[in-house]
Amino acid sequence: ATQPYDDQNVFAKILRGEIPCRKVHEDEWSLAFHDINPQAPTHILVIPKGAYVCWDDFSAKASEAEIAGFVRAVGQVAREAGLVAPGYRLLANAGTDSHQEVPHLHVHLFAGRPLGPMLA
Ligand code: 5GP
Repeated sequence: ATQPYDDQNVFAKILRGEIPCRKVHEDEWSLAFHDINPQAPTHILVIPKGAYVCWDDFSAKASEAEIAGFVRAVGQVAREAGLVAPGYRLLANAGTDSHQEVPHLHVHLFAGRPLGPMLA
């Protein structure tokens, strides 16, 4: 991350309960909810509860427990949504060239149709 964490970002507001979300999973370390502008029949965002801008920030600063909790949550969401057999795609944007819009680490989970080849 090239910027400090901004606690006014939209996912920080969702974590504080200041704006609503359609929650699919919550535990000590993570929250998962439906994307407001879905790009696939299933489009879920999984976020850590800690204040991390993106993957490099999280991996540098988070505790082992936070990292384990978040990684386990992503897999649990996929299993609980019944996506193991049909399959799914995970994607995490970081920074300007990736077009990251919300500066709180999130993993997109796309599923529910054949997703085609990976983007360049
Ligand atoms: P990014 O481009 O940062 O990887 O993706 C941000 C995602 O957050 C986008 O897919 C966008 O639709 C989603 N998003 C933005 N604002 C909200 C919101 O207020 N609620 C929910 N549920 N998703 C949001």
